[in-house]
Amino acid sequence: MKKILYVASECTPFFKSGGLADVIGSLPQYLNNTKKCEVRVILPLYKQLKEQYREQLQEVMIYDTEVGWRRQYTGIYEMDHEGVHYYFVDNEYYFNRESLYGYIDDGERFIYFSNAVIEFIYRGDFKPDVLHGHDWQAAAAVAICNIKKPVEGIKTVFTIHNILYQGWLMHSAFEELFNLDRIHFAGFEWGGMLNLMKAGIFHADKITTVSPTYAEEIKTDYYGEGLQWMLNLRNPDVLGIVNGIDVDDYNPMKDTHLPVNFKTSIPKKRENKKALQQEMGLPVDAHIPMFSIITRMVEQKGLHLVMAILEEFVQQNVQVVVLGNGLYEFESFFNYLANKYPDKVHVTIGFDEGFSRRIYAASDFFVMPSLFEPCGLSQLIALQYKAVPIARETGGLKDTVIPFDIYNGVGTGLTFANYNAHELLDKLNEAVRIYQDPDHYKALIKNISKVNNSWAKSADRYLDIY
Ligand code: ADP
Repeated sequence: MKKILYVASECTPFFKSGGLADVIGSLPQYLNNTKKCEVRVILPLYKQLKEQYREQLQEVMIYDTEVGWRRQYTGIYEMDHEGVHYYFVDNEYYFNRESLYGYIDDGERFIYFSNAVIEFIYRGDFKPDVLHGHDWQAAAAVAICNIKKPVEGIKTVFTIHNILYQGWLMHSAFEELFNLDRIHFAGFEWGGMLNLMKAGIFHADKITTVSPTYAEEIKTDYYGEGLQWMLNLRNPDVLGIVNGIDVDDYNPMKDTHLPVNFKTSIPKKRENKKALQQEMGLPVDAHIPMFSIITRMVEQKGLHLVMAILEEFVQQNVQVVVLGNGLYEFESFFNYLANKYPDKVHVTIGFDEGFSRRIYAASDFFVMPSLFEPCGLSQLIALQYKAVPIARETGGLKDTVIPFDIYNGVGTGLTFANYNAHELLDKLNEAVRIYQDPDHYKALIKNISKVNNSWAKSADRYLDIY
């Protein structure tokens, strides 16, 4: 049985800032359940680990990790959780901080992490056949693994969850933070700087990304964020595999965060809407269509389109519920609208897992007009909770939301092609019309009820690669 080590910077239920955490928190479990491989996961031991998990940690070993000319303390801890064995890399200087990311030395933090992981493979009992790194934070581990081969014959897979975030450092960091022969500089260099994502793509045996459409998009100038040439160079080894979700966890029948559990029953779903309206101080009326946005508030998520048309849209009898945080530009826009239309718009600036699930369950439509979207998990979660996605046809959104056609009754959401605010507004207005037409609305919900976005479809593709 193949042994696989996942190297990643976040993972539910321990640490989450976005969809990467959902993937790392569910795919290994699914793969292990197939009994066709054994996946273990190694993560940084951030301050954010909750006490209930922290008290389960067992110390494995302590050593120094070389970071250029320095030596940094490394503690390795382990824990089993729901069929997966986790390792945590402890170093308080790097990981005992208020947030997971957003620090001036993020590059150094994750190069340290990568160096520590390779050292762990040398020293530990778990000798993986494959090191599978995720996103730029683990890209250096992929590169170093390919160069140093801590286990004879070890192979590497690198998954791009978002090519926008690449891990740029001054080129002097090569001497300062790595312990590699100068000959390897070229694999890390791009544009006069070090680019960790480039190094991951350069070195990995296989490169995957999280949807077939995104795999094609990132080979183009528009979506490649400057690395399109690298992906074209590695084209035969680049694969797009669409993400799944843990359908047992995101299950409206069992979700303990919901006031009323439901499967496909619209009346029961609407009980959740009424409860949320009450909780948020909106007019309580199950028949008002509710639109939701749950997101990191960054340009990627298409919020400029939302800004351009939302005030016009809320002139009719609708409600809009927003949960997220990020750029001030977007936070302040949503706050402005919530203050101006307190009976229609409710905004919560923050990150709250339980609240997000109550919103998915309560809302009739989920708005996701992304500028680009590698896969997107939010629309998959929305489908689970029978909130109809309204999405732009890009990346994984294109692969997972089938446009609803009122004439032949096929489809699972409302979609539009161009990055254009009025195309979004058209779809929002169409959503209101569909909602008010019981036949169309029921047909749409029926289609959504048949969707299965578990890992079943994609797990075999990963097994093939391993
Ligand atoms: P990305 O990884 O680009 O942020 P995805 O759609 O792939 O986008 O995944 C986002 C994940 O984070 C989903 O599980 C979504 O529900 C969750 N999420 C995003 N913002 C919030 C928030 N403010 N509070 C709670 N969960 C959030």
